[in-house]
Parts: sequence; C-alpha cells; structure tokens
Amino acid sequence: MSRVVELKRKPPKSVCPMCKRPTVSAYRPFCSPRCKDEDMRRWLEGGYRIPTSEAPEGEEEGA
Ligand SMILES: [Zn+2]
Repeated sequence: MSRVVELKRKPPKSVCPMCKRPTVSAYRPFCSPRCKDEDMRRWLEGGYRIPTSEAPEGEEEGA
C-alpha cells in the first residue's frame, strides 16, 4: 500500500498545470509558451460559461 516515491524524487516547486512538467521560469507557471497558450484557450472558453446555482431547466423542481 505504501509506495515510497517521494524519497527518490524531490517534490518539484511547481509544475506545469498542463503537462505536469517542471515549470520554466520564463513561462511560469507553465513549461512552455505552448502550454501557456493552451491554458489561455481553456480560460477563454471556460470564461464564457459561468456556473450558476440556478437549474438550467428546473426539472428537479417538479414538485
Ligand atoms: Zn507544459
């Protein structure tokens, strides 16, 4: 059950949220301009969708 992994590998200070590779200071918090661009894409796409507490159609409130 207990695997010793952290002993061999030092925990990285920060990793790219996109590909989990070590962060490059020049592209923090990413490892490359590619990942940075990809993140921007996601952010833009996700930005349009604002999660609301209201039900989309109110089907659950069919009391
Ligand atoms: Zn990356």
